[in-house]
Amino acid sequence: MSSLCFLGTAGGRVLVFRQLRASGGLWLESNGTNILIDPGPGSLIRCLENKLDPQKLDAIILTHKHLDHSADVNVIIEAISEGGLKPKGILLAPADCYDNDPVVLKYNRAYLEKFIRIDQGFKYQINDINIEFPLRHEHGVETYGIKISTDQFKLSHIVDTKYFNELIPAYNDCDILIINMVFSDPMPYPHLCVDDAIKLINGIQPALAVLTHFGYRLWEKGIEPYIDKIQQQTGVKTIAATDGLKLDLENKSEMNFG
Ligand SMILES: [Zn+2]
Repeated sequence: MSSLCFLGTAGGRVLVFRQLRASGGLWLESNGTNILIDPGPGSLIRCLENKLDPQKLDAIILTHKHLDHSADVNVIIEAISEGGLKPKGILLAPADCYDNDPVVLKYNRAYLEKFIRIDQGFKYQINDINIEFPLRHEHGVETYGIKISTDQFKLSHIVDTKYFNELIPAYNDCDILIINMVFSDPMPYPHLCVDDAIKLINGIQPALAVLTHFGYRLWEKGIEPYIDKIQQQTGVKTIAATDGLKLDLENKSEMNFG
């Protein structure tokens, strides 16, 4: 069995730091292997609220150092390792998270089994899960999106970035495409908007597109009309993630309806 639980769907500063939506990251489970992606503010609390035990985690992934993606990483490292008594877990993160102005505290690193610096094209396998970071994004700090696959599913997650054409070949060939869509309209910041999501979904043609990491203005205007527009212009089943949403990654028939 493989599933993905959204422990948060907030993207912009206002939604995250007022906690109008949660910002705990994504919890992936596949046949007993557990990976937490981007543990932002409140991640530990959101894990527990969703009855997910951090001690069961095998790995944590940081896509980049911005606090809405990394604020709870040290808390989660201590939660996995019982405060360092039982070193456990692997951390995969860009060098930027460990080196200059690190978000991963140095004393905490001994509590992990391994900490790994990822870069463009880096691949790693944990039990039956294949993880790849195909492309460095344009986002100000060192940032990578993720492709995750097993025999049962293929998932691409396009995290924070400005739109550029190389995103499409880097993330194609997936059943489920997750996009961090912060804005409704184009803005002079390195984040994706609705039109960018349409280009990406049209280019990649997944079975299911899931939008998340919403900014305040998009959330305030209401996300659903934009989801309808994306679905109409791509023909791909598209949903907006909600806090606590759990996706069954193996149920392809559910993805293909409509
Ligand atoms: Zn960011």
